[in-house]
Amino acid sequence: PAEGVATHSTSIWVEFTTLAAETKAVNLGQGFPDSPAPKFVTDILQNISSQPELTAAHQYTRGYGHPMLVDILSKIYSHFYGVKVDPINEVLVTVGAYLSLYYAFLGWINKGDEVLIIEPAYDCYYPQVKFAGGVPVPVVMKIAEGATSSSEFKIDFANLESKINEKTKMLVINNPHNPTGKLFSRQELEKLAEIAKKHKLIVIADEVYEFHVWNRQDMIRFASLPGMYEQTISIGSAGKAFSVTGWKIGWAVGPKNLLEPLKAIHQNCVFTCSSPTQMAIAEAFRTDWPKFLEDPENSYLATGLSKELRGKRDKLAKMLEQGNFRPIIPDAGYFMLADYSHLKDALKLATDKDPDDFVFSRWLCREKKLAVIPPSAFYSKRESKLENSNMIRLCYFKKNETLEAAEKILQKLS
Ligand code: PMP
Ligand code: GLN
Repeated sequence: PAEGVATHSTSIWVEFTTLAAETKAVNLGQGFPDSPAPKFVTDILQNISSQPELTAAHQYTRGYGHPMLVDILSKIYSHFYGVKVDPINEVLVTVGAYLSLYYAFLGWINKGDEVLIIEPAYDCYYPQVKFAGGVPVPVVMKIAEGATSSSEFKIDFANLESKINEKTKMLVINNPHNPTGKLFSRQELEKLAEIAKKHKLIVIADEVYEFHVWNRQDMIRFASLPGMYEQTISIGSAGKAFSVTGWKIGWAVGPKNLLEPLKAIHQNCVFTCSSPTQMAIAEAFRTDWPKFLEDPENSYLATGLSKELRGKRDKLAKMLEQGNFRPIIPDAGYFMLADYSHLKDALKLATDKDPDDFVFSRWLCREKKLAVIPPSAFYSKRESKLENSNMIRLCYFKKNETLEAAEKILQKLS
C-alpha cells in the first residue's frame, strides 16, 4: 500500500459495529436512529421511485448538486447566515458530510500545512488531514473533574493561539459536538472567529447536528458571525437532518473561491451524487422549511426531531445515573458521555496496551451485550487518549425497546 495509508489502523466504526453485530449486542454504539425513518421523507422517495419516466430522478443529475437541492439549500443557508448564498456557485452536494470534509482538506492543504483540530474530535478529521499531506495539530478541551454537563468542556484559547504559526492554514470546529454533545456558546464562537480572522485561517465548520438542538435559537452557525462567511466552509448532512443516515447525502456551503478546489476534486472523482435521494431530500426540505419558518410546532427540523431526542436523552441519563455512572448531560446532538470509574477497579483494565475505555467497551459488548464507543478514539496523541479513557460514549437516538434493553444490562452491572 501507499505510504500514507500503510500504517492505518481499523476505525472504531468498523471495529465496534462489527463486534456489536457478531455479539448481537444492544447497540448504543454507532450513531444512527434505529426507529423508522420519518414517513413523510420515505413517502417522497417512494413517490419518486414510482415514476420511471422521471429522468431528473433516475439519470445523472448536475454534477455539483441536483438543481432542486442546491436551490432549497441556498435558501435555507441564506436565512441562517444572513448572506445571499448562490445555489450554483456556493453549494456543493457530496456523498455524505464525510466527502465534503475530505474534499476541503484535499482541496486546500499543501504538504506540511498545519490544521488545528479541537479535541476530542470526530475521528476522521485526523486521518483525512494526513491523507491530504497536512499536519493535524490537536487542541485538547479540558473538562473539570466531576463535571456533569457538556458545556463544561472548555477550550483554552491561549493554548490554541500558541499553536498557530506561519504553517497554520485551517481550523476545524464541530458544533454541535461529537462525542461530547457540547453546543458552543456565542462567546466561544466569537473568540474562535477573532482568532480565525487575525490569523487568516480557513474554518471548516462541521455542523451536521445543526438541527439536533433543544432550542433552535441556541444553534449559532459559524458562517453567520460577522465576516466569517468569507472564511468558512460549512458542512451539513441530510442523513442527520432527516434521520436517514444510509442515504449518504451531505454538502459544503461557502463562498465561490473556497468551494472551487472542492469542486475540482468532485468533478473528477465522483462527478455526481445519487439523483433520487437528492431529489427526495430537496422535496423533504421544501415540505418542512416553510413550517420551520412559519409553523415551527409542526416542523420536523424545528421541533419534531429535538422533542424526540430530548426525551431519549433524559431517559438515558436517568438510566446511567441509576446504574452509578456519571453522565455528562449533552446540550445537543445524539450522543452522551458517561464516566464508568465505579466499574474500573474490578476489571484490571490497565494491563492492556489499549486505553482502558477500549478494553472496557470490548468487555461490555462481548460479556454484557451492550455496544458503546470508546471516546479515547476521538483524541490523537497517546497521552491524551490515556488521560481520557474513563468514559464511554452512548448514542441515545434509539427506539424505546433498545433503550429499555440497555437499561436492564446497566442495572445488572452496578
Ligand atoms: N461529522 C460528524 C461530526 C459526524 O458525527 C458524522 C457522522 N455521520 C459525519 C461528519 C459524517 O456524516 P455523513 O454520514 O453525512 O457522511
Ligand atoms: N457519525 C456517527 C457516529 O459518530 C457514525 C459514524 C460512522 O459510522 N462512521 O457514531
